[in-house]
Amino acid sequence: MERTSIRTVEGAGHIPAEVRANYESVIGLEVHVQLATATKAFCACSTRFGDPPNTNTCPVCLGLPGALPVLNKRALELATRAALALHCTVQERSRFARKNYFYPDLAKGYQISQFELPLATGGWLEIESGESKKRIGITRVHMEEDAAKNLHEGFAHADRYSHIDFNRAGVPLIEIVGEPDLRAPEEAYACLTNLKQALEYTSVSDCNMEEGSLRCDANVSVRPRGAEKFGTKVEVKNLNSFRYLQHALEYEIERQIGALEAGETVVQETRLWNVSAGRTESMRSKEFAHDYRYFPEPDLLPVRIAENWKEEIQRAMPELPDAKRARFVHVYGLTQDEAVVLTDSQQYADYFEAVVKHGADPRQTAGWMQRLSHLAEKTAELSEIIADKYGNVTAAHFAEMVGLVKDGTITATNARAVLAKMFETGKPAAEIIASEGLSPITDEEGVESICRGVLAKNPENVAKYRAGNEGVFKFFVGQVMRETRGRANPQTVNDILKRLLQRS
Ligand code: ADP
Ligand code: ZN
Ligand code: MG
Repeated sequence: MERTSIRTVEGAGHIPAEVRANYESVIGLEVHVQLATATKAFCACSTRFGDPPNTNTCPVCLGLPGALPVLNKRALELATRAALALHCTVQERSRFARKNYFYPDLAKGYQISQFELPLATGGWLEIESGESKKRIGITRVHMEEDAAKNLHEGFAHADRYSHIDFNRAGVPLIEIVGEPDLRAPEEAYACLTNLKQALEYTSVSDCNMEEGSLRCDANVSVRPRGAEKFGTKVEVKNLNSFRYLQHALEYEIERQIGALEAGETVVQETRLWNVSAGRTESMRSKEFAHDYRYFPEPDLLPVRIAENWKEEIQRAMPELPDAKRARFVHVYGLTQDEAVVLTDSQQYADYFEAVVKHGADPRQTAGWMQRLSHLAEKTAELSEIIADKYGNVTAAHFAEMVGLVKDGTITATNARAVLAKMFETGKPAAEIIASEGLSPITDEEGVESICRGVLAKNPENVAKYRAGNEGVFKFFVGQVMRETRGRANPQTVNDILKRLLQRS
């Protein structure tokens, strides 16, 4: 067996851009998703996360001899829904199989999975790639059960013993295998984002990456640009965040290019993303690859999905993110970018539509919702912002605020502060405007006298302006806005200042 030196270039990040440009990366994702059922795949135990270890177990999920599995219909329904959302062909007949391997987290000595006859095949998912859209093929979607969880740190005698929590054993999963259609880490990121979104929209899973409801492995290879044949792939595991996925791929692509440039070959293997070291590390090579000795699961009947049940699931499918984006552009006249932001989550999109139903202008609402997301921590996900803060602000209040800006009851400048206050206190905009004294100054003479004051106080800048330095104009506007606490209409201030400055 071929065995080239593994002394590959470990220092990624040093490949010159012109060398990198000679290569193309090829990526395919394999994603495990926990189905949002109340009970496990083959027994009635709860799937609740965070319960004390080994409290949600029974003879079936503990793998005791003689215990027989029974398929959870809800799990099958959710798996079918996911497959349909990914435009797959749901097979009328599929079958469970035993995947045999030995590991402490696998009490039965095998995992119930699907092999030759998966639930669904041949689908796709759309991503935006630059200006255009691109379809990423989905090879298959199959059902399987989760394994138990090994516990080490923080448990008794952790230096000598491993502990096993079987609460997770038998929890229903689907594995989604993607085609090697991705060509850059950014595309992989976009693909996982859109996949997560589709699964959340359809309530197939809560997709909580921290709790392990969504787990992603990435297969990656590089080839000389223009080559037809794929290079040798490496599977990277332990990518439990979007950031890790992108960083690990970037690292791995450079490592592989480095190896090829050094005249070595890429070894087919499984590597782990080491978060703290910021690199991938060899876990097992192909030589140690498992032979799982798959065979049909004799304790479960083959799965037969009736056409009318499939149709029923299809009919109950909510509007998917792509369709929603297209509708937002079409019906509300939003830009594609606005539509992308607003459909980030179903809740966010629903909120937008509720605000618009209350009579707010759609484009202005989109603008204010985007500003809101900038108000909140830049790093926080939109869905978190909504969960944390929207609870406070009803769609009616938000619509009222948008209307107050539009009809000039509040300046856009101050509306930001009002918005922030609304989220803090849950009070309606009008009340905040009144209590904070934020009504705009409508009296033009009043504004003009403030403008005059500002000019009088800054004779050097006035001279600069008149000498042709137009840049100082912004300074005057800023001063006036400060003195009026943002309550003057910026356009009026502009007009008045221009007029005053023209006079000699
Ligand atoms: P294996 O036989 O090792 O399971 P598969 O052909 O079933 O390999 O593919 C597993 C995953 O690897 C899929 O997600 C697929 O898209 C991806 N993949 C296959 N070949 C390559 C390659 N040369 N480079 C990158 N990814 C690949
Ligand atoms: Zn059980
Ligand atoms: Mg495979």
